[in-house]
Amino acid sequence: MKHSLFVRTSAALFLMLALSTSAYADGTGDRRARNVIVFLADAAGVSTVHAASLYGHGEPLRLHVQQWPHLGLSEMSPVDNWKSDSANGMSQIMTGVKTRNGVISQGPDAVRGEKDGTPMKTVLEYAEERGLRTGVISSQSIADATPAATYAHANDRGKQGEIFMQAFTPRHGDGVDVLMGAGRERIGALLAEAGTGFEELARRHRRPIHASLEEVDASNARPVVVADSLDVHAATLRALELLQDSPEGYLLVVEWDAHTDDVRKGLQNLVDLDRLIAEVESRVDLDETLLVFTADHSFGLQVDGGKRGEPLLAGYDEWKQAGVREDVVRLENVMVNRTHTAEEVMVLATGAGAQRVRGYFPGTHLFDVMLEAWGWSPDTPVNPAAN
Ligand SMILES: [Zn+2]
Repeated sequence: MKHSLFVRTSAALFLMLALSTSAYADGTGDRRARNVIVFLADAAGVSTVHAASLYGHGEPLRLHVQQWPHLGLSEMSPVDNWKSDSANGMSQIMTGVKTRNGVISQGPDAVRGEKDGTPMKTVLEYAEERGLRTGVISSQSIADATPAATYAHANDRGKQGEIFMQAFTPRHGDGVDVLMGAGRERIGALLAEAGTGFEELARRHRRPIHASLEEVDASNARPVVVADSLDVHAATLRALELLQDSPEGYLLVVEWDAHTDDVRKGLQNLVDLDRLIAEVESRVDLDETLLVFTADHSFGLQVDGGKRGEPLLAGYDEWKQAGVREDVVRLENVMVNRTHTAEEVMVLATGAGAQRVRGYFPGTHLFDVMLEAWGWSPDTPVNPAAN
């Protein structure tokens, strides 16, 4: 009896060992990541990703990211509503804590526009603290909610002047190394209201703030660009080149707007982002790099008609010319209820640590996915109670 028990136990142990060391389907195994790259398609829910493949490639499942091996569904609600904005959406991805709409990487003890909540440490701050290099790129204002939630803490996403200034007074490390986005006019106006401006900030922190990517000197390893509009493709490849020199690894976050208020513009942005992702993937080593594609919230777009060989967006030009700005857009094959929606968004992942992306989970899980990919533990959990 004793002997057979021993045999069975050793067989079980052997099986456990074999399972724990087995490689994953994409061959990356459970290797630690040196680098993490997050592609945030703002407002790109599952239905938008599907529509982008139909629009850009004339067939479903043709986007590059749709070939990635790991998929999960991420639930993005804030603590008090069903529907998320970009502030709560990106804050929960970056800090592991759900908060309130409008609030930038502070706990739900914040009152929007009135009272600061507990600042929640972001993945970017963890990376800075550990000596990694970091980059944030956005097609939108570099101080708007999504990029802001990576490097700033504020009780209202509207405070873009204050948010931008925080990039120069980091709480960990030396702050974002490569910071490039749009929003020059708006941020400039808010800085002026606060009695400062780009030039003064640049002087005070000894860091030039450029108006375009072309202005950046080749020797500048930590460029800041606040443009009127940014070539995200070029900016991201530049950022990647600079960050890949890092001896300790890097974090790169790229936001590209995919709101489909204007359905063609939104879908084209997503197709362009997907091409950029393919290009980035060809330049990194997946054995040591985690790539994640996700959204901060979903959007009310549905494909409810159309067929193969015919343009998805029939009727778009007429709609555009009419200049109507109704809440619900009815094209032949596509209907857009022009608002954020509450259902889960997809997370697609490949590379080191990507196997942790699976099943349904709260949006906060991505924080754990990134930290665990690096092999880091979060600080003592702070979970400020809601008011
Ligand atoms: Zn958003």
